[in-house]
Amino acid sequence: MTASAENFYLSGTEPGSTEGRCLECGNRISYGSRTDRKFCCDKCKNRWHNKRTRNSRLFRIRVINALEKNYRILSGLIKMDVDTVPVTVLGQMGFDFSHITGYRKGRKSTEMWCYDISFTVTETLVKSIGRLDII
Ligand SMILES: [Zn+2]
Repeated sequence: MTASAENFYLSGTEPGSTEGRCLECGNRISYGSRTDRKFCCDKCKNRWHNKRTRNSRLFRIRVINALEKNYRILSGLIKMDVDTVPVTVLGQMGFDFSHITGYRKGRKSTEMWCYDISFTVTETLVKSIGRLDII
């Protein structure tokens, strides 16, 4: 690589690069003494950070809601003295297997937890649904 080509790549201002553009509004950033600026102005910087904070909070709320829904479903089954259901049925009830609080993979099954309720998942069945002894 020639010296000029090297400078070209290091500068990060090649055409089509996102560098040199404000992360919030996309406007070109006129570099001053710093070449690592990400925003054209403080307003854009604040707006971007506020948006990120808000999105992070909404994401956490969605996860909590999904966990709570799963917990309600499992609690309902325990209340009805049901400790085994087909995986498909639990799915039809709206249970989301990607929102649990822990799991331990075994050879033939996986033990999962949703807060203080544990259950064992095989290829077709969810069984041993019950509360952990936390007292
Ligand atoms: Zn901007």
